Amino acid sequence: MDYQNVIDRIHGQLQDLWGQGRVADYIPALAKVDPRQFGIAVATLDGQEFRTGDAQVCFSIQSISKVFTLAMVTGRIGDDIWKAVGREPSGNPFNSLVQLEYEHGLPRNPFINAGALVVTDRLISLYPHPKDAMLEFVRALCANDDIYYDKEIARSERLNADRNLALAYFMKSFGNIENDVETLLDVYCHQCAISMSCADLARAFLFLSNRGVNPFDGRQVLTVSQAKRLGALMLTCGFYDESGDFAFRAGLPGKSGVGGGIAAYIPGNLAITVWSPELNRHGNSLIGMAALEHFTTDIGNSIF
Ligand code: GLU
Repeated sequence: MDYQNVIDRIHGQLQDLWGQGRVADYIPALAKVDPRQFGIAVATLDGQEFRTGDAQVCFSIQSISKVFTLAMVTGRIGDDIWKAVGREPSGNPFNSLVQLEYEHGLPRNPFINAGALVVTDRLISLYPHPKDAMLEFVRALCANDDIYYDKEIARSERLNADRNLALAYFMKSFGNIENDVETLLDVYCHQCAISMSCADLARAFLFLSNRGVNPFDGRQVLTVSQAKRLGALMLTCGFYDESGDFAFRAGLPGKSGVGGGIAAYIPGNLAITVWSPELNRHGNSLIGMAALEHFTTDIGNSIF
């Protein structure tokens, strides 16, 4: 399959969509990102890599980090995490508070903010130096020791984290947060501020298409069953209240972030990342969603 040709063509076609979405502005440092950027990277399990556009530019991965923290926590405590977080799509925006009260502080899934905060809370309980551990984990997954936290974005998000603080304190009142909320928010804002390129992220998602094994060092990061479950959650919950539509359009497990990135994969085959900062009204990259729909259509392959 000539993936280079496919992604170059998609890159050329979709630039017409610039101007139809809006860069996330609820975190001031994100609002400063140049909206007219667009990169695509594909990494295959047989070791090939394909890139086009701004595929080497680093951006804030935001909620894509929720996949990494969940992998770290399930890798350590397995099914115990499901006592604290559910596994159903929420049908609500990523930062919604509404379901939490009548569901007694148990978030619907690990990819809405409430669920991700619980997962990060458990990560803090498990790792004495959680921020170092996260970087080490992600660096190993993409075989790149240069991955870093964008401190300006972390600071900016922490200064504008009222809603996430509210979610965390609310869940703590139900006994579903173990650690100090200030510490939790600091770690959470750092995970969102991990800076990576499309090329890094595509490599970092390859372990999911490889039955949980990191292809770069051969380490079993997750069991086959855990990797399957992570993929199922991405398919059903990875795109906020637009998860059904992404599954319908692209047919891939994936995860988006409000930095404009989307990472997705085809089991046994490849991982693909698209980044373009303008978001649609659900908070997903407008061009990224379209690019992945075109990609699976053009190559005639998805998980279905
Ligand atoms: N840092 C963001 C927040 O918690 C992550 C949102 C996202 O990418 O969905 O508000």
